[in-house]
Amino acid sequence: MKWIRIDVATDSRTRLIDITNIVSDELAKTGVKNGICHVYMPHTTAGLTINENADPDVARDILAGLARLVPVTGDYRHAEGNSDAHIKASLMGFSLTVPVIDGCLALGTWQALYFCEFDGPRHRHFLVGITSG
Ligand code: ZN
Repeated sequence: MKWIRIDVATDSRTRLIDITNIVSDELAKTGVKNGICHVYMPHTTAGLTINENADPDVARDILAGLARLVPVTGDYRHAEGNSDAHIKASLMGFSLTVPVIDGCLALGTWQALYFCEFDGPRHRHFLVGITSG
């Protein structure tokens, strides 16, 4: 399987970025009709998740909820001062697996793929891999 690198420049410390169209475009280029789409995040302070994109307040509320769960400051030892970002990234996770059916991501009606920045702004990237069969 060939992995495709997608570069992302984030513009704030925390942000959920809808990457559904980017991943769908890469899927379309492969011509794969049925298989699996893998998305991988090779960073420790950014993650991936799937959630609603119909109402932008959902992404806002996810960030607000994570901020309440994991404050920026606290009883942390990590010298970089970004322990909250490491914890939030681990809570979201670092990979997604989405079925590909009839050449499309088989997402639910309200689902979107999100790149989750927790320690921006930074130049980031993620990987997309699509298997056929
Ligand atoms: Zn760190």
